Amino acid sequence: MKALAWLKEISGEKAAAAGVFAALVFIPVFIFSGRLAAREISRYYALAWSLFAAGTAFAISCTGRVSFYRRLFFSVSALAFLFHFKLGLVNNIFWPASFKAAPFCHIAMAPYFLGYLYQQYLAFMSGGWKLWGPLTLGAAWLFVTLAIGRGWCSWACFYGGIDDGLSAVARRPLIKFGGWVFKLRDLPAALLVFLLLASLAYMLPVYCLWLCPFKLTEGFMDGETSVRRVQYALMLFALAALVIGPLLTKKRIFCSFLCPFAAWQAFWGRLNPFRITADQGKCTGCMNCARSCPMTAIKDGPGGKAAITAYCNLCGQCLGACPQGGISYTVFGAAFPEAGGILGRLFSAGYLFVFSALTLGAVFSSLWAPAAIRDAVKLILR
Ligand code: SF4
Ligand code: SF4
Repeated sequence: MKALAWLKEISGEKAAAAGVFAALVFIPVFIFSGRLAAREISRYYALAWSLFAAGTAFAISCTGRVSFYRRLFFSVSALAFLFHFKLGLVNNIFWPASFKAAPFCHIAMAPYFLGYLYQQYLAFMSGGWKLWGPLTLGAAWLFVTLAIGRGWCSWACFYGGIDDGLSAVARRPLIKFGGWVFKLRDLPAALLVFLLLASLAYMLPVYCLWLCPFKLTEGFMDGETSVRRVQYALMLFALAALVIGPLLTKKRIFCSFLCPFAAWQAFWGRLNPFRITADQGKCTGCMNCARSCPMTAIKDGPGGKAAITAYCNLCGQCLGACPQGGISYTVFGAAFPEAGGILGRLFSAGYLFVFSALTLGAVFSSLWAPAAIRDAVKLILR
């Protein structure tokens, strides 16, 4: 009966708009993920991943529950990353075929940026101008930043998917933060500055070597036992922030307080036009939105009203938390509401942002998600 009532509710224009929206997401995701997958595996796995992304778009459009379906998609993408790149590293004795080194990632790019610039400068001065491998990643980052800005951290990042998924597991937080937590909120910015300078001084990706919890199982570990112990201790600390922190607090502890890329993106994300905006005319200052925000990105503003900070990564979690319906996606803070008709619905700020973020997230995760589906199928069939 419930299913019938739901189907009745989504019939007509709403269902048609959801179908068009899902198709708009499916087409670019399948084109790109099909091309990426075809280099190594069958396009059917890319088709499965593209259908999952399109299903997410359809569900968001039908129900309006942006964060619920985003989180499902985001967590599956992060699990696929672990499954494809990491499970075999721990378990390669039993499953050697899956052994894969995780690729150079966007988080390393932020703290190593000065080292990269310096290397390019040296190459330029010596007349040997060269392209550095991660330049490709840098160009991709610039494109993504212009398209979805800080949305990267809630729609595409594989670290974020773990932190975000785990923050939804507990019904209530065992540990609650008071207002003091905002004193620590700039910690990732300080960490970023430190890592930028340290990486430049040593000409090494210091974050990868000393903090990345994904490197615990790889050849990044130092040959010297005492140094390796410090590496293990720091990486385990970061792993605890990524896994135990969100389980205890329902907040994304790693992303909010340790990730240098989050600070990087909080700064550069201003280039992107999409925002989450609290309507000050409707806000009563109840702070339900702040309690629901997994990124600790909403604080008491002037007049006791909600103030959304630069650390917001447009996850959409607070949209449903406001009893006044006063929070929405906007373009540079300007309301851009849905109009009538199928196309009118799709040209709202919310739809435009969800389309960009979901499509980019799905295309980026095509680097591993279709292969993870293939790994799972092989594991089941053997
Ligand atoms: S302010 Fe809202 S959209 Fe931004 S991170 Fe917090 S819950 Fe997500
Ligand atoms: S939940 Fe809505 S009314 Fe309450 S503080 Fe946040 S924006 Fe204001």
